[in-house]
Amino acid sequence: MENSLKYCPICKKEKSGKDTFCEIHEKAKKSLLEGYELWLRAYGILSWEAYLKELSILDESVGKTVKEVIDYERFFKK
Ligand SMILES: [Zn+2]
Repeated sequence: MENSLKYCPICKKEKSGKDTFCEIHEKAKKSLLEGYELWLRAYGILSWEAYLKELSILDESVGKTVKEVIDYERFFKK
């Protein structure tokens, strides 16, 4: 990953250096991670990819910014 990127890879807004995303997308990512921890506690084993896939199926309950982070994580991040 390119660390010197100064713009959010999702919305192209400026971001602070150490973060991957801008403020709103960092927030969305954080809530994703928290949800993942809860999910792990409930289901035991579930990969990050499977979790993202589940969430993208549950479309309506997922916020727009969270959805954007999911799409980014699923299709662009390697
Ligand atoms: Zn952003």
